[in-house]
Amino acid sequence: MERTYNVYIDTGLFVLSNLLDKDIEYITTEDIFNSSEIIFNEILSMDEENFKKLKYMVFTNSVYTQVGFERKFKSFIKNMEELNSEGTLKCSLCGSVSVNYSYDATRSVLPGICSNNFFNYSNNLRYSAICPACIALSLYSILGINRTKSGAIYYASDDNKVMKNLVNRAMKNLKNEYTEITVLDEIQSTLECEILNKDYNKAYYIEATLCQNYGQLENTRTYTLTSERLLRLILLKKEGLWDKFKENKFIYNVLYENYYDMKDDIDIFKFFKDLFLEKELTMDKIIIDEIKSIAKKLSNNIDKDLIKELDKISSYNKFQEFIIYNQKNIFSKNGEFLVSQDLYDAIIDPQKWLSVKRRLTVELLYI
Ligand SMILES: [Zn+2]
Repeated sequence: MERTYNVYIDTGLFVLSNLLDKDIEYITTEDIFNSSEIIFNEILSMDEENFKKLKYMVFTNSVYTQVGFERKFKSFIKNMEELNSEGTLKCSLCGSVSVNYSYDATRSVLPGICSNNFFNYSNNLRYSAICPACIALSLYSILGINRTKSGAIYYASDDNKVMKNLVNRAMKNLKNEYTEITVLDEIQSTLECEILNKDYNKAYYIEATLCQNYGQLENTRTYTLTSERLLRLILLKKEGLWDKFKENKFIYNVLYENYYDMKDDIDIFKFFKDLFLEKELTMDKIIIDEIKSIAKKLSNNIDKDLIKELDKISSYNKFQEFIIYNQKNIFSKNGEFLVSQDLYDAIIDPQKWLSVKRRLTVELLYI
C-alpha cells in the first residue's frame, strides 16, 4: 500500500505493518481485510482501562463503543471487504483504487474529512467518498495512539522510518497501564526517546494531532514540528541545553511558534532566534529598519530597563501609550522623533502591534 499522508489511515497502515511484520509497501488490500482477527486480539492485549478510555476519546470509534463490539467490529470489516469490489469510483484519499462503492466517511470512521463539528456531523452534512480499505485502516489506528490527560495524540511523519518508530512506541505503551501525562510532556518525551536520542540525519517533519472528544465539545489540534525546528532541537541537545529547555517547558513555545517567550534564557533563545526573526521578516523591510531605529533611540535616551517595560505592556492601548509617551519625551529632550511621521500608523497598527513590540524587544536585546 502507498501512504495517503492522512494521519489516521497511515497510523492504521503502520499498525498493520507492525502486526504482520511486513513493510508497508508489501501490505495488500487482502491483508487489510483479513486482519480483523489479529487487530481484535491486539485490542484485547491493550491495557483494559486504556482501551475503555481511548475508545471514547478518539473519533474513530463507530464500532468500538457498541455492545458486543467484537462481532460488530469483525462484521464491519467483512462488510468493507465485500464493498471493495472493483468499480469506477475513486477514493478521495488513496486515489489509486477504483471501487464500486464509496463510504460516507463520518468522523466516527475517519475524522476531519466530513466537517468536524457536532452540528454538521449529527445532521450528516458534508460527507466525502472514501474507499473501504482506507476506512478499515482508519479504524485500526486506535492501536497506534498515545493517551494523555486531555485527549489522544496521533503522530505522523513524512519519513517512513520515523513514522514506524512512533507507531511502534505507541503500540507498546498501550499495553502498559496508563500513567497520567499532559499533552506537552507526552510530546516532549516522545521527541526525547524517538528523535533526540537517535542518530538519524535526514530532514523530516513530525505532526502531533490531538483529538479531544467530550460529547458536544470536540476538537482536533495539530502541532507541527518542521524539519527546521527538529534540527534546532537536535542542535540544542548536542549543546547540552535540552534539560534546561525541558525544565522550562519551552517545548510549548516551539509548538506554538512563540519563540519570543524564550528570551529569558538567552542561550536557548539563540537557537531559535533565526526562526523567530524569519517569521517577523514577513514585515516590510522598511518597518524592520524603523523598529531598529526606534530601539536605538530608546536605548540612547531612556535610562530604564526597556525590555522589562515592554514586557509589562499587555494590550494595544498600553503599547500606543508607550510609543506616544516616548515620542513626546524624546522630542522634548533633543527635538528628534522616536517614530517617523510616515511610519507612525504602521508602527501602531492594531493588527500588528504585538509583532512590532516583540521585534522591538529582540532589537533591544542585541543592542
Ligand atoms: Zn482509499
